[in-house]
Amino acid sequence: MPERLGPALPEPLFDRLTLVGIGLIGSSIARAARQLKLARTLVAVDRDDAVVARVRELDFADEVTTELAAGVSGADLVVLCVPVGACGAVAEAMRPALKPGAIVSDVGSVKGSVVAQVEPHLPDGVHLVPAHPVAGTEQSGPDAGFATLFLNRWCILTPPEGTDSAAVERVRALWEALGSDVEVMSAQHHDLVLAITSHVPHLIAYNIVGTAADMEEVTQSEVIKFSAGGFRDFTRIAASDPTMWRDVFLHNKEAVLEMLGRFNEDLAALQRAIRWSDGEALYSLFARTRAIRRSIISMGQETPEPDFGRRHEPQ
Ligand code: NAP
Repeated sequence: MPERLGPALPEPLFDRLTLVGIGLIGSSIARAARQLKLARTLVAVDRDDAVVARVRELDFADEVTTELAAGVSGADLVVLCVPVGACGAVAEAMRPALKPGAIVSDVGSVKGSVVAQVEPHLPDGVHLVPAHPVAGTEQSGPDAGFATLFLNRWCILTPPEGTDSAAVERVRALWEALGSDVEVMSAQHHDLVLAITSHVPHLIAYNIVGTAADMEEVTQSEVIKFSAGGFRDFTRIAASDPTMWRDVFLHNKEAVLEMLGRFNEDLAALQRAIRWSDGEALYSLFARTRAIRRSIISMGQETPEPDFGRRHEPQ
C-alpha cells in the first residue's frame, strides 16, 4: 500500500480550484492538492473566521476567505466539502458567482440528496459531478486533515445522466491524482451500497455506545475500564462528527431504513440461535464473516496486523 503521495504533476489540472468547507475532507484535499500542484490557484472558503485564520497559519491554500462568491468566482472546479444538509444552501448562494463551464462537485457521504439539492441551483453550462471519497477518520476541522487520506481508497462519482463526459473525466483526474481508485455509479446505487457498508455500521456504533452509557447495573467506569473487550472499537466510530452523521441519516432515509429492516431480521435469527443453543448456526455465520474481513485485507483496504496494528507490550 503506497504511503506517500506521488511527485507533483508537470502541469496543473485546474487553473483555479476552490474548496468550500475546510474541515477534515476539505483540508485533506487542500494539503494534497498543494503538494501535487494540482491547481495554479488553490482557494479555501470557510464561513468561520477562526477556521480561515487557522488555514492561513497552516498555509495550504493560495487564497483563503469567508466570502463564498469571491472564492468561487472564476473557479474551473468548486468542491463542496460541507455536511450533506448544507449543500443546497451553499449551491444557491454561490450560483451568481459561478463562471460558465465551471464544474461543481462535492464529497458528501450521500449522493441522491446532494444531486436533488444542488442541481436546481446550477446555471445552464455549469456541470455537476458529485463525488464521495470513501475515506475518513472520526476527527473534524482543518487540523484533522492529512494529504495521504485518499491514497489507495475508493472515490465514487455519481454524475447524473447526460453529464458532460469531459467534466466527469476532469473530476476523475483530480481523485486519481489524490491517489484514489475511481468508480462511477448512479447516486441511487451508491446510497444503497453505502447504507450497508457505512451508514448502518455507524448507527449500530452510536446505538451500542449509547446503550452502554445508559446502563445502570454496569458503571460508566467499568465500561471504560474493560472497553478492550470490543466496545472501544465501536467508540471510535461513535466519536464521528454529529452534524455530518445527523445529515447522513436525514438524507439517506429510505436506503438506511431498508437495510435496518434486514439487519433487524438477521439479529432476531441470531437471538433465536442463542436461545435454542444452535451452535451450528452461530459458528457458520461467524466463519462467513471472518472470510469477509480477510477479503477486505487482501484488497488493501485494511491492515493485516492483528488488532488494527495496535501496539501490545509482550506479556
Ligand atoms: P468537518 O471536518 O466537520 O468539516 C465540515 C465543514 O463544513 C466545516 O468547514 C464547516 O464549517 C462547514 N460547514 C458546516 N455546516 C455548514 C453550513 N451550514 N454552511 C457552510 N459550511 C458549513 O466535516 P468533514 O468530515 O470534512 O465532512 C465534510 C463532508 O465530507 C460531509 O458531507 C461528509 O459527509 C463528507 N465525508 C466525510 C467523511 C469523514 O469520514 N469525515 C468521509 C467521506 C465524506 P465551520 O468551520 O463553520 O464548522
